[in-house]
Amino acid sequence: MDRSRSSIIDEFMIHGLHVEARRRERVRAEHEAHVLFQTSTVGALMEGQFEGDVSFGELAEHGDFGLGTLNHLDGEMTAVDGRFYRANLEGEVNEIDPAARTPFATVVFFQPVTSHTFEQPLEHDAFVTEMNKHAPPGSPSCAVRIDGSFEYLKLRSVPRQEPPYPSLAEVAKTQHEFELEDVEGTIVGFRFPLYAQGLEVAGYHFHFLTADRTRGGHVLASRTGGVEVQFDHSSELHMELPPGIEMPEPDSGAAATEALKQVEGES
Ligand code: ZN
Repeated sequence: MDRSRSSIIDEFMIHGLHVEARRRERVRAEHEAHVLFQTSTVGALMEGQFEGDVSFGELAEHGDFGLGTLNHLDGEMTAVDGRFYRANLEGEVNEIDPAARTPFATVVFFQPVTSHTFEQPLEHDAFVTEMNKHAPPGSPSCAVRIDGSFEYLKLRSVPRQEPPYPSLAEVAKTQHEFELEDVEGTIVGFRFPLYAQGLEVAGYHFHFLTADRTRGGHVLASRTGGVEVQFDHSSELHMELPPGIEMPEPDSGAAATEALKQVEGES
């Protein structure tokens, strides 16, 4: 693996989170546990940067678990067990061609460090509160996998966009929301700290797939049935920055947080 300083275009610590950014030609496949890999930034996605240069084949060299979207913002992407799935506007799911590219995705080789079972149904906010009690302590960011039954899910997906691209906030006005009841499946999620806002979605970001991997989308709300929650912890974020995308100043300001909340929901 190339760890020479010259290949890193930016490297910094924000609180406990170590961030390294590279251009695509400098990115190397890596299989380190607990290292998150991300293409571009959520700030760039917010501004309508809907075309990236990393393929799903390349993304798979950095993780078997994660979420994001596809070029042209063509649906919601969820990766689980090494397979990459796209939920279209109707929430119908298909596997993604490895040659397809992504403008924004976060992946990790998922290696859980904690596991906890919740037998009782919980509304979304109560579930997040309970789940946080079992998160790895002191970890700036986490990947979380939730398997089991869900009494209710409110999901959304987004329509494919063509240039000139609008902002993500504009697209969100045309998103498609739909509900699932009494389904088995998997939620793939990440939790990032507030100070990572701009780079990533602060707080939780969840995508869902049914157990048969035929339906899914970005999670807006949920009521769990019995679920198992597994956390992986990370303090290392490696980023690939597409041409023209610069490393933003991490922004925990209220305006950026508020804009993103409107798009990504309150989770
Ligand atoms: Zn999402």
